[in-house]
Amino acid sequence: MTKVLYNNNINEEVLQSKKIAIIGYGSQGHAHALNLKESGFDVVVGLRQGRSWDKAVEDGVDVKSVAEASQEADVIMILLPDEYQPSIYKDAIEPNLEAGNALVFAHGFNIHFNQIVPPADVDVFLVAPKGPGHLVRRTYEEGAGVPALYGIFQDATGQATDVALAYAKGIGAGRAGILQTTFQEETETDLFGEQAVLCGGTSALVKAGFETLVEAGYQPEVAYFECLHELKLIVDLLYEGGLENMRHSISDTAEWGDFMSGPRIVDEDTKARMKDVLSDIQTGKFAQGWILENQANRPRYSAIKTAESQHQIEKVGRELRELMPFVKQKAINKKEVVSN
Ligand code: NDP
Ligand code: MG
Ligand code: MG
Repeated sequence: MTKVLYNNNINEEVLQSKKIAIIGYGSQGHAHALNLKESGFDVVVGLRQGRSWDKAVEDGVDVKSVAEASQEADVIMILLPDEYQPSIYKDAIEPNLEAGNALVFAHGFNIHFNQIVPPADVDVFLVAPKGPGHLVRRTYEEGAGVPALYGIFQDATGQATDVALAYAKGIGAGRAGILQTTFQEETETDLFGEQAVLCGGTSALVKAGFETLVEAGYQPEVAYFECLHELKLIVDLLYEGGLENMRHSISDTAEWGDFMSGPRIVDEDTKARMKDVLSDIQTGKFAQGWILENQANRPRYSAIKTAESQHQIEKVGRELRELMPFVKQKAINKKEVVSN
């Protein structure tokens, strides 16, 4: 099995003498900044004036402009939305890099697809938590952590690995396990996971199941509970103990139906299309499409987003969740529940 590192394998001393700038204070940014600060490191947050700035001040962290924070820091973690990173990097971060600094990412996209090309005299590595930011924060507060991947792109100082591991320990990942990867592997597997399984695959499956029941004349409310709401219970069981644990908890009838019908839904053809999706990621076709879409101000993205929000499953869901205040409460901080 791949070597997994934990807190006792890691010496964080190398990071104690350094100043860390966290650029961005969204899902990941707030979690990294607060966890590192509480782990005893010197943290400054880099932002523009706005919602995140106010929140960071409220949380008691030191906040400066992106340029000032980058200038002051030795280790600069970029936790801005991936699409905006290249231009903010060019304007405010690159001019403030010094030889021996470390440039850090939580996702390999911009380095792997050459959207950011750092100078040769800085360390470049990634520390990518395998979970949404709100969990990185919540588990840390509970004394646990979210596992993370680290990977080195450029080791100008000879210390990149030590700094990366100390950083990962600082955000609490050493309590859960830290694995080595490369920018290529992290980028391609992350994009594939979210497209084929976690986000794209799941939402398409849920919608198709809902539509099938509604088109057959069943009540949309019943279809919503069956195909969307209950998914949480199933996912919790998967998370806790894998497929076997989930199948242990469901009825034998459900388990037999799983064995018989699951492979009829996701079959060899589906897998062939998964391979196409993976191939578009590997060749850079997906990345290029997304970069162009952003350059054109996202016309297709916006149109699809609007259409999706008007789907019947969303309308029914909004009504039903109104009646379940315990569910609604958790969705209030919308940004925090967005997985990546
Ligand atoms: P968010 O969208 O949650 O946060 C964005 C932050 O960037 C906000 O604080 C926002 O501030 C700030 N920002 C946006 N534009 C600017 C600007 N022009 N100048 C200054 N600040 C700006 O990002 P995520 O945390 O989702 O993603 C950050 C990185 O982490 C990405 O590389 C992503 O791939 C990676 N990642 C994310 C995961 C997740 O759970 N979300 C999981 C693993 C990796 P404002 O309020 O001012 O807009
Ligand atoms: Mg059932
Ligand atoms: Mg992602």
